[in-house]
Amino acid sequence: MRRITIGVLGLQGAVQEHIKQIESLGHDSAIIKHPEQLDHIDGLILPGGESTVIRKLIDRYGFYEPIKQFASKKKPIFGTCAGMVLVANMLHESPDSHLNLIDICVKRNAFGRQKESFEAMLDVKGMKTKYPAIFIRAPYITKAGANVEILTTYENHIVAAKQEHILVSSFHPELTGDNRFLNIFVDMVVKSLTTITN
Ligand code: GLN
Repeated sequence: MRRITIGVLGLQGAVQEHIKQIESLGHDSAIIKHPEQLDHIDGLILPGGESTVIRKLIDRYGFYEPIKQFASKKKPIFGTCAGMVLVANMLHESPDSHLNLIDICVKRNAFGRQKESFEAMLDVKGMKTKYPAIFIRAPYITKAGANVEILTTYENHIVAAKQEHILVSSFHPELTGDNRFLNIFVDMVVKSLTTITN
């Protein structure tokens, strides 16, 4: 398999843990702090953190249009937790949305106070055994368009999904020793390279 480079948007949030997980799979990683760096990566992770803060920093450092362009080239993007809020087309009971890259409506901090953070064993599409998912003030998907593939649910709420080259999860895959979820993204990146070069 060709070695790929996955970037993690390094403006705020859980960046380092993603970097470690990418490297544990034998791929190259990059912390993305300047828009020009997007030209040198094959896939981009938008990490968890605080979506309102990350959005402000995206604007301040001139990332908005470059990320939109990256996506328009069909290069894969993975939004985890706050990253999922950032890529959604719609936010629940809010007029705001950010990058508008996937046909989902997302509710922020959706599991309520009594469930600020928790771990759940989930059945994920394509995985033979249950996957340990860590949720921290997590959002969930309230609506998904017809072209969105639902990968898993928790208590009847959609918590991971995929549409073409955009992947999202409510949970933090970088915080478990189980790298199968990141592998879903790696497969998308590898596939995008074969379709782009052929
Ligand atoms: N609740 C946060 C937000 O909406 C996301 C939390 C997280 O990324 N762990 O930005």
